[in-house]
Amino acid sequence: MQQRRNSNVQGIDVSRYQGKIDWLQVKADKREFVFIKATEGQTYTDPNFTANVKGALSAGLLVGTYHFLRGTSAEVAKAEAAHYAKSLEEIGGAKSLQLPPVMDYENNPSGISKAQINIVAKAFLTELERLTGVKPIIYTGNSFATYFDTGLSGYDLWIARYSNSRVPDDQPAWKNWTIWQFSDAGKVPGITGNVDLNEFNGSLSDLKARYGKEKDMNNPFDGYRLTSPFGMRTHPVSGEKKFHRGVDLVVTPADGPIYAFVAGEVLHAKMGITGSGFGNYGIVVAIKDDKGYLHVYAHLSAAGVKVGQQVKRGQLIGKQGSTGISSGAHLHYEVRKACTPQFGYTATEAGVVEPTQYLINYYGQTPVKEDKPVTTRDINVPSKWAEAAWAEVTANGYYDGTRPGALITREESAIVTNRLRKNFLALIAGTNGDVKELDLRLKKIESES
Ligand SMILES: [Zn+2]
Repeated sequence: MQQRRNSNVQGIDVSRYQGKIDWLQVKADKREFVFIKATEGQTYTDPNFTANVKGALSAGLLVGTYHFLRGTSAEVAKAEAAHYAKSLEEIGGAKSLQLPPVMDYENNPSGISKAQINIVAKAFLTELERLTGVKPIIYTGNSFATYFDTGLSGYDLWIARYSNSRVPDDQPAWKNWTIWQFSDAGKVPGITGNVDLNEFNGSLSDLKARYGKEKDMNNPFDGYRLTSPFGMRTHPVSGEKKFHRGVDLVVTPADGPIYAFVAGEVLHAKMGITGSGFGNYGIVVAIKDDKGYLHVYAHLSAAGVKVGQQVKRGQLIGKQGSTGISSGAHLHYEVRKACTPQFGYTATEAGVVEPTQYLINYYGQTPVKEDKPVTTRDINVPSKWAEAAWAEVTANGYYDGTRPGALITREESAIVTNRLRKNFLALIAGTNGDVKELDLRLKKIESES
């Protein structure tokens, strides 16, 4: 794998073993990010978890968390993911942190098979992403990483190898590290004793860009199923043709967590009373943003915030439900132009805006953008958006796994096109004749076109 670089941003990871930490001193020592131990197994929570998260955030570090995986079956792995996700909800949810949650899978005391290790890992990662809405990353050791198959290549790798010069080995699933834990015996001001040292493969702004929330805004409702758009529709309960004032979004499970799409002040957090502007809306959390627009989260089964509270973007604000007049568990989300009177309610569509466009405009995001100009980017690292496709196309043998971000040469494109052509002929021939005969027919088609 690749060497360290002087320009790479530095960080640490901690658990209760580091005791009480002076986070301002840690930050002053240019440690810009931290992964904090959250949970282990199905019931254990690190006693310093909440204090560490609060302290690190208030000192201005980028914060992520990790879970130490113990399970040996998919079922137990899922239960562990649920325990971890629940602990994250207590600090505002995974989306309220800048760095993703982590599966720490580093040993095999009961000696399960390699295949079973991958089953357990995938079950945990999939369940954790479903519950938190954030794609996790994988922490493991240089030796243990050899157990993971290419099905995990799409997850970022945080790998331990305690050396400044001996880089982590190339692995079946990864040729590059995203984060390298290069020491378990670091000395950092503000921390008593040893601490693990980590380096991210890039600058501080690269780290923010990789896991930053900005990119979410290409689809503001990522993680939700949109079941009813904004505009005229036949109402699912009353049957009358009516203007739908917001969008209907669904998460699983039915009482799944709802996070704030924008930051702001909570103006309402209870059952909507008839005549208030929220009649029939069920339990409503309403948040006023800095432009004076009111964000309405309706039909909740519970509100998780209080009136007067300032909430951050991505903060947990309640649970999905079907309170009020609702055809089933969903989130009705609408954006009103005003907060008064009656919380900005109008009988017609005059008082609301289309929520998707509002959020895209609010975050000022252009819909698609290349990560970096080709001339300045690291050609050994695939673009974030291309990562899954790259993993699949290399696993399938069309590329050799090197130079994912480089300009393609004529030779390379010739190789790929030819492999595709041969494989397709073989595939079709498998059910439909022999390759030679198909090749002749294809040549005829090619000569005519
Ligand atoms: Zn609705």
